[in-house]
Amino acid sequence: MDADEVAKRLQHLREQYTSELPGKFEAIRAAWERLEAAWGAENLKTIIRLSHNLAGSGATFGFPLLSAAARDLENRLRQCEGAAAPSAAELDALRAAVRALIAAGGAGMEQAAAKPLVLRAKSPFQATGENRFIYIVDDDTATAEQLALQLRRYGYEIDVFSSPAAALAAVAAKPPAAVLMDIIFPEGRLAGVEVVAAIQRARQHPLPVMFMSSRDDLEARLHAVRNGGIAYLTKPVDAGALVDKLDDLLAPSPTEHYRVLVVDDSPQLAAYYAEILRDAGMEVEAVSDTTAIIDLLKQFRPDLILLDLYMPGCDGLELAAVIRQQEEWVSTAIVFLSAETDLDIQMDALRRGGDDFLIKPVEPHHLAAAVTAHVRRARELRSYMVRDGLTGLLNHSAIKEQLGLELARCLRENRPLSFAMLDIDHFKQVNDRYGHAAGDRVITNLSRLLRDRLRASDMVGRYGGEEFAMVLIGAGAEDARRLLEAIREDFAAMRHASEQGEFSVSFSAGIAAFAGHADAADLNECADKALYEAKRAGRNRIIVAGVS
Ligand code: GH3
Ligand code: MG
Ligand code: MG
Repeated sequence: MDADEVAKRLQHLREQYTSELPGKFEAIRAAWERLEAAWGAENLKTIIRLSHNLAGSGATFGFPLLSAAARDLENRLRQCEGAAAPSAAELDALRAAVRALIAAGGAGMEQAAAKPLVLRAKSPFQATGENRFIYIVDDDTATAEQLALQLRRYGYEIDVFSSPAAALAAVAAKPPAAVLMDIIFPEGRLAGVEVVAAIQRARQHPLPVMFMSSRDDLEARLHAVRNGGIAYLTKPVDAGALVDKLDDLLAPSPTEHYRVLVVDDSPQLAAYYAEILRDAGMEVEAVSDTTAIIDLLKQFRPDLILLDLYMPGCDGLELAAVIRQQEEWVSTAIVFLSAETDLDIQMDALRRGGDDFLIKPVEPHHLAAAVTAHVRRARELRSYMVRDGLTGLLNHSAIKEQLGLELARCLRENRPLSFAMLDIDHFKQVNDRYGHAAGDRVITNLSRLLRDRLRASDMVGRYGGEEFAMVLIGAGAEDARRLLEAIREDFAAMRHASEQGEFSVSFSAGIAAFAGHADAADLNECADKALYEAKRAGRNRIIVAGVS
């Protein structure tokens, strides 16, 4: 959806809200009259709720003065709660507050038509889109070229520059998606940082810059941070860690699969928040009626619930408690969104299982950022249950379970499927020679390569220490072999960093293709046997088993 479209929808919501304001003022006026005629807790509660709702929604739709006046009335009325009927002077003050609220609303409505309401929730970095260009700037061109070679394997396009001046000119001529900058150059001990400062000064949006250096002192790191360095890598640069950072930066975890449920008793506010979050790329359901919420939870399975605090029928706190009492929703994030400014009540909301508390009106950018952060965190927590800690791949039991499920599905749909097992060659020697940490990096490098190369529908898991398993959906034996051959070649050519210098490693793999009447255990066994044969035949190769 483009920005104009979003602006139009938000504008439409505001018009709807504005058209309902006179009715809301009328309700407040009537509630006040009832209260004056018969002072009592019930009548007081009604007008408090009405002013609270206006306080929360007004500023969101561009009526900050209305919000302020409504909040003032709400606060004054709350002071009357539990107290004796107000004195004549206090009544006068309340009456004035009601009038001020209605006047602020009227004035705001006149101004509203003039001011467009568009606020986009985007990151400070310009959208990089399909730009996969990375500039590496290092006077040690041999190392830089080596790094470039590795990054190209992950689909990045790399240009190497050996001097800060050359980089400065190149960035101006053709801005890359990011720059990887060395710090020490013949031009000076901080020449890399200085040229980045010059680059950033000339730009409207900061350019993502990662520094890499043999310097590991506070001065260099501070300079790097002050000049917008988003990462600092010490040499020798671990290409795997770098790719992780670049992937994160250039393809930020896609928010389009984030599911958010918005619950607010004001339909306009619910729709407004939904628009903002959809504009940030999320899937959103908005409800203002809480009666069917449990069914909706089961159906929609949100990652996060954005919950209004005060709602008639069942309030946000109760709803949070209900959700938290069901084990299947433990990893669902709950974020309260309310005009409530009382810290005690906010704390209580968090104690009841809320993850965060946002105050209305909330800036669209803040809303999107907070929701993104909580969803990411919630997903991370959930993934620990089925994922391996070192690589983030599915763990042994999860990949086995997937094999069973996918096999059944492919059988139903009459599609091919292959199961591959892969084991790093002579891995014990890697640990012995280069240390366990270097060994760990080899494992993460391989897992990253696998994740990168397989299609989203394929599944890859860490089967054991240096063993991996893959379920390749829709791939017959030959497709699977071709795919793994390409990965095998790239992995064998990859250089891994260690304190003893760089080294490379290979893997062997066995593939078993499903031929229509095998079960998961059969496939597993055949792939395992094929892997064993590949090892015996000299390693660094792939063998396909025939499944009958
Ligand atoms: P082969 O080519 O026959 O597979 O030889 P290999 O040395 O790879 O096989 P072996 O199974 O004898 O040794 C595997 C080694 O992998 C032993 C173990 O210490 C190491 N290993 C297992 N998990 C990890 C891990 O998470 N990190 C590191 N660094 N090493 C691991
Ligand atoms: Mg091995
Ligand atoms: Mg092994």
